[in-house]
Amino acid sequence: MTAHRLAPYSTLSRFALLALLTSAGAATLRAQTLDTVRIRTTDLGGSVYLLHGAGGNVGVFAGSSAVLLVDDQFAPLADRILAAVGELTDAPVRYVINTHWHPDHVGGNAPMTRIGATLISQAGTARRMATPQYTEFFGRTTPAATNDARPAVTFVDSISIRLDGETITAFHVDSAHTDGDAVVRFARANVVQMGDLYFSAQYPFIDLSSGGTVEGMIRAADMVLALSDPATRIIPGHGPVATRAQLAAYRAMLAGVQDSVARLVAGGANLDTVVAARPAKAFDAAWGNGWMKSDQFIRIVYQDQVRQTSP
Ligand SMILES: [Zn+2]
Repeated sequence: MTAHRLAPYSTLSRFALLALLTSAGAATLRAQTLDTVRIRTTDLGGSVYLLHGAGGNVGVFAGSSAVLLVDDQFAPLADRILAAVGELTDAPVRYVINTHWHPDHVGGNAPMTRIGATLISQAGTARRMATPQYTEFFGRTTPAATNDARPAVTFVDSISIRLDGETITAFHVDSAHTDGDAVVRFARANVVQMGDLYFSAQYPFIDLSSGGTVEGMIRAADMVLALSDPATRIIPGHGPVATRAQLAAYRAMLAGVQDSVARLVAGGANLDTVVAARPAKAFDAAWGNGWMKSDQFIRIVYQDQVRQTSP
């Protein structure tokens, strides 16, 4: 893996992704591979912007008096993220909401604390960041976050912040991508940021070992569909900004794959039989070209199904 080969998350190799997401020992690789990352800014209207770099998408509310970020990627990118924000407003970053605990979404937390921002998350996310976390899918342990990287303000169900004429609300969806997920709504701008509850145009990762479930992912999509309209811009955890109709298709894919796997499991099929039956076949053309491969996704859905149905 050489620096010039670095690409956005969606095209990173599985090896680089593993290193970026999970391994403390990969700090050097991380720094090298992030060297050439550029931050791209998309204007979503109403002073809300989407920053693409490496790692999870970053949402920005660029107010006249203060800035609120949703997620902050990796620490080595903090200066570039702040430079991109500086192109939008001279106001300081005052708040950062973390959508969940994964390192590609909270990696810039400590640098944001150092410039005076207040870190906010759902209580489950703050709880996981306080101790080492083993992620079964990657077979790796993420160390506990340092004090300055841990959320200072937590909420259980929701929290609202009024800032420069906008109301930003973070809602909890239980047991979805993890057990500490937040969906963030920018009411006036009509933008919703979903963290990893939504991967646009690709199968999602569901972190079962952090309390995630397929059913929770479907509930999260339903919740956002209910508070959206055709003009709503939806920021996924990874991938391009999407519409309500695209989120509805994602919801249908999740339910369709879950249903097919559930039928096979109910018929007594084991993991190998389920994977061989290709229960996501109808969805692979549209969703199977991202980082998460079809059979990996099936394994996650299978494990979830077995867990939900075993006594
Ligand atoms: Zn995640």
